[in-house]
Amino acid sequence: MEKIQNYINGEFVNPIQDNWLNNYNPSNGDVYGQLPNSTKEDVEKAYLAAENAFVSWSNTTLQERSSIILKIAELIIKKLDFLAAAESKDNGKPISLARSIDIPRAASNFQFFANAITQFSSEAHESIGMNAMNYTLRQPIGVVGCISPWNLPLYLFTWKIAPAIAAGNCVIAKPSEITPMTAYLLGEICTEAGLPKGVLNIVHGLGNITGEAIIDHPNIKAISFTGGTKTGAYIAKHTAPMFKKLSLELGGKNPNIIFADSNYDKMLETTVRSSFANQGQICLCGSRIFVEQKIYEKFKTDFIKKVSKLKVGNPTEGSTNIGALVSKQHLEKVKSYIDIAEKEGGTILFGGKTVTVKGSENGYYLQPTIIEVSSNKCKLNQEEIFGPVVTLMPFITDEEALQLANDVKYGLSATLWTNNLNRTMQFSKQLQVGVVWVNTWMFRDLRTPFGGQKASGIGREGGFEALRFFTEPKNICIQYE
Ligand code: NAD
Repeated sequence: MEKIQNYINGEFVNPIQDNWLNNYNPSNGDVYGQLPNSTKEDVEKAYLAAENAFVSWSNTTLQERSSIILKIAELIIKKLDFLAAAESKDNGKPISLARSIDIPRAASNFQFFANAITQFSSEAHESIGMNAMNYTLRQPIGVVGCISPWNLPLYLFTWKIAPAIAAGNCVIAKPSEITPMTAYLLGEICTEAGLPKGVLNIVHGLGNITGEAIIDHPNIKAISFTGGTKTGAYIAKHTAPMFKKLSLELGGKNPNIIFADSNYDKMLETTVRSSFANQGQICLCGSRIFVEQKIYEKFKTDFIKKVSKLKVGNPTEGSTNIGALVSKQHLEKVKSYIDIAEKEGGTILFGGKTVTVKGSENGYYLQPTIIEVSSNKCKLNQEEIFGPVVTLMPFITDEEALQLANDVKYGLSATLWTNNLNRTMQFSKQLQVGVVWVNTWMFRDLRTPFGGQKASGIGREGGFEALRFFTEPKNICIQYE
């Protein structure tokens, strides 16, 4: 049994009420560890540690802050294999993915913000003719809350923590109770890197208890949250009377719009990834595929052929393309959408069944699934499934494609495949999303603003946007004689 503890004031501690939750290995369904079922008292203890650390940390020079944060990045890279194995076991994702994407990106998050904070500046405005000078002071907020989901555990956890501490805040962070392991391991790394006690406190537990205690705390003034739209809406409503600063990165139902004039081979290869990477459990996956009628039948044949070659298997095996879904409940939820496909007039072109993996018979495996739908109004196209399920639909005109892409409550990202410049410009302008990828997918430059429109959230993370979120701007106006 691998026992996870809270990391408060630089120390590993048990939850005050000594209540624990089970941690499952999705690849075989076994309980392999326990994590704290933390309560309000644990969050309060973390808050006091963070509050106590704040004056000193917020006055630490940028060079010193930056070098400690760089050291965290260095240690993550040093422990890459160990962290990748832990992430894969905890989440079910293929170890190759954890090793090539998740863990390196967690290191990059720290590296990026360690450097970004040394370049972050604010503005000055001279009120000409009035003998007055204004400048903007960007001060850290104080104690902030970071709450993250299970799909990219360390990747998204650190995406919030890195800018928060780089900007001089102290943090109370809660990873998903479904994938707590690498967040736990991060505590050890922070101590080793010399991060002062109390700057980062990691509290484990359930959303409606531990998470609730964080969003409810009157002195935690900002919350950076990534997770489901329903939870985000609840947090927005619940915290509104407390006037907290909120960044909400929520669900998506992203269109992948394919025109006949694109680079076909690159498009096909990338579309397999954008559909099924991480078992389709990425908020940015292109789960609604719209294909220009002219190439629809050819695409259908080629796509099915390529997808049929993906290996569903134990995440620890290097040759596995599709690992296990994160939990039994999630597998049931994804399956329930496949079950309604035919009732909604859809046709399952490939997949749709659970997979029994030899030696891991109780794992949560599902075939990559392709469903042809006849209308964008069906549940399969309107609701976030968040699994290895994509839909296909043909379109004829640009107007039709744009209308289909925007006809959904979400607005996170869109992918467009075309070599037509006018079309690229028109779509980029008119797609109602926070990120548009043209002839690529999930290409991330960490300086760019990241986030969604509509039900995909409010606020932007990434680059200076994140540093702006984690600081409070104050206008200083000085008049002189
Ligand atoms: P979730 O909303 O169930 O949980 C996310 C986190 O919030 C967890 O740590 C959970 O414990 C916590 N939480 C739950 N209820 C809470 C409450 N009342 N108060 C405070 N915290 C609470 O989401 P999930 O199932 O873990 O993640 C999947 C979702 O995340 C999908 O909808 C996906 O699209 C979204 N997501 C979005 C992005 C993005 O950048 N927009 C990235 C990854 C995942």
